[in-house]
Amino acid sequence: MQSLIKECLASAAERAPGYFTAKVGNDDYLVVTAKNAPAFDVIVADDNTKICPQNNKNAKLLRSVISYLNPVSRKGHKFTIGLGDRLGCAGEGHLKLLAGKGIFPVLAQQSIRELNLTGRTYEDVLASAVWAVFNEGYTGGYGADGDHLKQPFEIEYAISCGYSMITLDCSEHIDNTIMSLDDAALTAKYEEISAPIRKAYEEKYLNCAECGIKFDKKSLMQSVLIYGDAIEYTEMIYNRFIKPNGIDFEMSIDETATPTSPENHYFLAAELYSRGIECETLAPRFCGEFQKGIDYIGDVAQFEKEYIVHDNIARHFGYRLSVHSGSDKFSVFPVIHKVSTGGVHVKTAGTNWLEALRVISKVDPALIREIYEYAVENLPIAQAYYHIRPSQADAPSIKDMCDCKLPTLLDVEDTRQILHITYGLLLNEKCDGRYVFRDRLYDCLKNNRAAYADGLKVHIGKHLALAFGV
Ligand code: ZN
Repeated sequence: MQSLIKECLASAAERAPGYFTAKVGNDDYLVVTAKNAPAFDVIVADDNTKICPQNNKNAKLLRSVISYLNPVSRKGHKFTIGLGDRLGCAGEGHLKLLAGKGIFPVLAQQSIRELNLTGRTYEDVLASAVWAVFNEGYTGGYGADGDHLKQPFEIEYAISCGYSMITLDCSEHIDNTIMSLDDAALTAKYEEISAPIRKAYEEKYLNCAECGIKFDKKSLMQSVLIYGDAIEYTEMIYNRFIKPNGIDFEMSIDETATPTSPENHYFLAAELYSRGIECETLAPRFCGEFQKGIDYIGDVAQFEKEYIVHDNIARHFGYRLSVHSGSDKFSVFPVIHKVSTGGVHVKTAGTNWLEALRVISKVDPALIREIYEYAVENLPIAQAYYHIRPSQADAPSIKDMCDCKLPTLLDVEDTRQILHITYGLLLNEKCDGRYVFRDRLYDCLKNNRAAYADGLKVHIGKHLALAFGV
């Protein structure tokens, strides 16, 4: 144990007076020589030096003494990227890639669904980001996003953990039945709203000539009925949690049945604005499909046409667009780069999980074979909560595939998606009380940190180059 002090001191790099990061083998440590330091968990100590584990408790305590380790708002940054890190070991690679590029990173970004599927907590996710920031010596600021939160208790939880950003998902308050109503049913439902309120809407919107938006009576009725409840709900959440805590706010309406029309977007934005709700970003549902882990599916020319209108509306009301499921959407990134000169937020989530699997496919063929076979076998379970096109029948057999070809599983759309959406099942699978894949997967990544960081540099680097031109 005493030798650990020596080994740590040999590699220690100071990150703040009296606080060092040290790497021994594949393990990182916090080394503390500061007097009056908080009560860290300690592995071993002598009179002058404490060697501490990089755990959740120590991350929280270290945040109390080193201010740049705390997540901050994206306000003032034009170009920002969400880098959801499901395993919690991509932060180092992300920060190496971002160095000097002028893009503000949201390093901690997970939805409740992702937490449930990975068996992690918001404390875990934030601690992973804190240690990556500390170990890399990055002082440029980063965000932490409680992503796609729906319920007040979820929002309270994220804020209590120190998250700087909340993405409110109003999908449970958006009426998906409205677009399928015929004219008579639509009018009847609209007329259930009291006459003075309808009159106010009509005066405000039927004469609107801003952002090239023109409402007719039908598109106004639809917008009111689809988003009315969501706006009320957002106002409640905003005044109760967002405003009093100075939280960086994103509104997401991307997980709905139909794309957000320009009229829908304008109506929503204008109503939020008139209620004093300040969004930093807003995520519409764009036309086409943003499926997990693969390129955009749809008409890029149509996307561009609509994206320009959405971007105009965002600029008009003083926020930026947020592009969700941004992993691997390479064919629309050039449009985003060209149009969003005023700024944009792009969220990626699972693509770094696929890069993790790419590392495994290169260094541990036996493990990737097991992972793949399991993913295919359990695909129908994952498809209950993630929408992708390929089914089991589209999954190629790898029995006769040579080891050297296994990394190609991460290049082909069908197998990418199959491996992408089964992460939760893979991470939680147990046999006789022990994880089948989880520990081996983490060990493999820990032993191949440089390869993982290099893979992220190439793959996320392609995102940055195309979406932000850096
Ligand atoms: Zn989303």
